[in-house]
Amino acid sequence: VGAGFGGLAATKALARMPVDVVLLDRKNYHGFWPLLYQVATAALSPDDVAYSVRGAFPRQPNLEVRMAEVRGIDLEARELELDHGPDLPYDYLILAPGSVATDFGIPGVSEHAFPLKTVPDAVRLRHHVLRQFEMACSRPWSLADGALTVVVAGGGPTGVEVSGAMAELFGKVLKGDLQDNLAAARPRVVLVEASDRLLNAFSARSRAEALRTLTKHGVEVRLETTIASVSAHAVKLGDGTVIPSQTLVWGAGIKANPIAQCLGVELFPGGRVGVDPDLSLPGHPEVFVVGDIAFATNGKGRPLPQLAPVASQGAKHAVRSIGARMKGQASKPFRYRDKGNMAIIGRRSAVAELPGGIRLGGTFGWISWLALHLALLVGFRNRAVVMVTWGWNFLTSGRGSRVILDLHPAPSQTARRPRPLVAERHRPPRPLHARRQRLVSAQRRAAAGTAGRGKIAA
Ligand SMILES: Cc1cc2nc3c(=O)[nH]c(=O)nc-3n(C[C@H](O)[C@H](O)[C@H](O)COP(=O)(O)OP(=O)(O)OC[C@H]3O[C@@H](n4cnc5c(N)ncnc54)[C@H](O)[C@@H]3O)c2cc1C
Repeated sequence: VGAGFGGLAATKALARMPVDVVLLDRKNYHGFWPLLYQVATAALSPDDVAYSVRGAFPRQPNLEVRMAEVRGIDLEARELELDHGPDLPYDYLILAPGSVATDFGIPGVSEHAFPLKTVPDAVRLRHHVLRQFEMACSRPWSLADGALTVVVAGGGPTGVEVSGAMAELFGKVLKGDLQDNLAAARPRVVLVEASDRLLNAFSARSRAEALRTLTKHGVEVRLETTIASVSAHAVKLGDGTVIPSQTLVWGAGIKANPIAQCLGVELFPGGRVGVDPDLSLPGHPEVFVVGDIAFATNGKGRPLPQLAPVASQGAKHAVRSIGARMKGQASKPFRYRDKGNMAIIGRRSAVAELPGGIRLGGTFGWISWLALHLALLVGFRNRAVVMVTWGWNFLTSGRGSRVILDLHPAPSQTARRPRPLVAERHRPPRPLHARRQRLVSAQRRAAAGTAGRGKIAA
């Protein structure tokens, strides 16, 4: 269940086994979430970070892909309840439905904040930011209402990446488009983090580099500060400060997919499902729970982070365990191989901490970040397009995808062409020579400069 990082890795690993595989997802594409912030800040297009699930497995004969949402799981009957069609029976189940954003019960977050968990989330945020910019250009007085103030909640990799990219979008890209009267009105990006540090999982050196670089790019970083409430026009902080802003990006927290609740087992912090050492569900050796939804530990009791490599390695381990069970052998405990941490801060700036104590920062960190994400993207077309787009953006300091495509546009002009009036419809056509005569006299009047003056609108 789920064609994310866990589901794709499991499906690929199952290709070589004598089993029938059904891959279910409620969407028809795999989303590459680490690049979502680039869609939100107009650096990439939505379909650069999404790849058709069917297209990912063009030649896997034992696979059936189904676009369906799992609504319930009957562990005793070994059946999945789907949003449409009959229940789906299984012999083994690999559950990888990921996580969802959580608002921690903060007033106004669910109504007014912009989460960044799905492609539609990223598109919504991008349209909103571009619309705010257009509004600020045509109605400069809206700047006092925070039209161009973006508040980002959460100082983890998502918050840091979004803040850096927003500062770049405003500072380098849109600034070029700003009219003179707006050039002085500096857009603001404010990053709010509850703890005393950014990028908590990184070393002190990388954390300091992130803070330094963001500040240099004009991001206001507020540590040890919480979000108290949000409205359509302001973000109120825990210390009582009110920031006029119409854009709160929510990168502060996630919780396990709510489907965890229908498993009837103990849930750990963040609603995550506790699993046995081989990632199977306690009491159900035929069910494996992997990725963001699982509360797996590293053997010393420390929970594994909710990261893509944890999901894909866990999924491959689940497939190995199924193979062992099918042969009547015992499964082994899951051991996560930590491949390090990376976060991009802005143009020519990223931090990368790799196994063996290797730390890269600045331009080297940035190049390694770009190379790794390019390699991990699914599909040759997406890799090629993203590489070319990044090259173009770098050379031109621009952003190509600055169009606002309304999802529910007003009917187009042609569709709304009014019907002729009844009198006109029944009026017999004027003879051709009369019409030609009117055109000739209009041309003569124009040449003589006597044509009526009207408003010119482009
Ligand atoms: C903005 C952002 C940036 C990130 N950056 C990084 C990064 O730089 N590096 C990193 O390692 N990790 C990063 N992560 C985390 C990483 O993406 C996750 O850890 C990883 O996606 C987890 O994989 P998964 O398979 O558990 O879930 P996902 O990849 O989220 O896949 C879950 C799939 O299940 C489907 N699904 C959900 N519910 C149902 C249902 N009821 N029925 C059917 N289908 C369902 C969803 O549509 C989705 O396709 C980032 C995450 C986000 C949101």
